Amino acid sequence: MLYRSTRGQITDSTAAAAIAAGLASDGGLFVPDAFPPLPADAVETLSPMRYDGRAAYVMAPFLGGFDAGELAAFTRAAYCPGGFDGDGAAPVRRLADGDFFLELWHGPTCAFKDMALQIMPRFLTSAMEKTGDTRDVCVLVATSGDTGKAALEGFRDVPRTRIMVFYPRDGVSAVQRLQMTAQEGGNVNVAAVEGNFDDAQTGVKRIFADAGFRERLASRGVFLSSANSINWGRLLPQIVYYVSAYCDLVSGGHIRRGEYVNFCVPTGNFGNILAGYYAKKMGLPIGKLICASNRNDVLTQFINTGVYDRNREFFPTISPSMDILVSSNLERLLYELSGCDGRAVSGYMDALARDGVYAVGERARELVADGFACGSCGDGDARRVIADTFERYGYLLDPHTAVAYGVLTRYRERTGDTAPTVVVSTASPYKFCGSVLEALGHTVSADGPELIDALAEATGIPAPAPIAALKGASERFSRSVPRGDMLRAVEEFCG
Ligand SMILES: *Cc1c(COP(=O)(O)O)cnc(C)c1O
Repeated sequence: MLYRSTRGQITDSTAAAAIAAGLASDGGLFVPDAFPPLPADAVETLSPMRYDGRAAYVMAPFLGGFDAGELAAFTRAAYCPGGFDGDGAAPVRRLADGDFFLELWHGPTCAFKDMALQIMPRFLTSAMEKTGDTRDVCVLVATSGDTGKAALEGFRDVPRTRIMVFYPRDGVSAVQRLQMTAQEGGNVNVAAVEGNFDDAQTGVKRIFADAGFRERLASRGVFLSSANSINWGRLLPQIVYYVSAYCDLVSGGHIRRGEYVNFCVPTGNFGNILAGYYAKKMGLPIGKLICASNRNDVLTQFINTGVYDRNREFFPTISPSMDILVSSNLERLLYELSGCDGRAVSGYMDALARDGVYAVGERARELVADGFACGSCGDGDARRVIADTFERYGYLLDPHTAVAYGVLTRYRERTGDTAPTVVVSTASPYKFCGSVLEALGHTVSADGPELIDALAEATGIPAPAPIAALKGASERFSRSVPRGDMLRAVEEFCG
């Protein structure tokens, strides 16, 4: 299978080249040139398998050039107990009256980013070997919280890699900060940026665009790469859990094979839900993909009207990983909607860069309406969802998953759709102890790791081991840099 760019200039990249490059040279994102249909007996074949076997099966057709043994070794190392807790990598839970939650936070950092970032570094270093690149890679990450820690954990002590993460000094929860600043490993570095997430992101983009710096690095045998979800190596592993959840519903006797299932996804950068769309293209019986936004509902507007308009106020919310105005992976959906027309996609992206807004045509709008539903849920409603769900079922949601559950409830009231629906659960509530405690009616004075015990006491639900371990952790990386000093920090670390 070959990969093309969404902007149309690149048409014949190998999987290894696409993963090693990250971004296509015409500025587009890599997409596969076909979606291999799942074999008719896929559900029977996969149901008895562990998650790592399912992952190798689903990903293999996309990874020409990676042999079966290599893939099996990667998925085993990524998804087996050790990294993921003993409960299976992506278990489906069912509440008493029938709602399903696909829990994607049993990995080492307790957020769904682990599903991709536990395996993506293996793809990347293998791709570097396959493409004959002898340089080392320095991975730069600007994070609003979850990606940074998951990337650190994924790249920790991986040969030929170094990783440096920048987080906004005042923009992450206490647990998220300590997860990053206490990171272990010989090839990692973390710094706070004096500013917000946009400042950190802009700083990292500026470093990528600094040709002189890249040349200096190249002369020392190092190239820069990114770990965010524009890389195909991060998106591909996310297709797996949609297929895996479907198999679990069938083998649990909850649905018949072939029956349609909806997925409701808390969405930010559009990577998670796009992987669901790809699973559907491969033939998985998915009805609606329900795109859930918080108050930053730019995607809801797009799905409802066909107009994407980033010229709007930005609201910090209690679901910070969804506080995004430009969802990069939407570009891949636009490519599908436009009938694989790279010129059309380039037009939209140019308009977005120039005016902050673009509108798709009638046909694309119909295709969106056919595959997707959407809705948004503000902080107040999300808090009520957390409290209600805990009261009724003793099941504790993080604020992102609560947004999705709130949107699903409204969607059902509005449409009367009674299809079985899986809510994609993206983080452990323990990553957001302060917000969750407040939602449950507790007064929270300071946001610190001592809230971990407070949440356990209030709910009787134990903290996941990696978060419980933070209580005694000491900071390794306490450095805070002004925006203007980010380049120097990277240079010291990578040079
Ligand atoms: C990253 C993240 C999201 C958003 O996922 P996208 O793939 O960016 O749409 C939702 N919830 C949590 C907890 C996240 O970390």
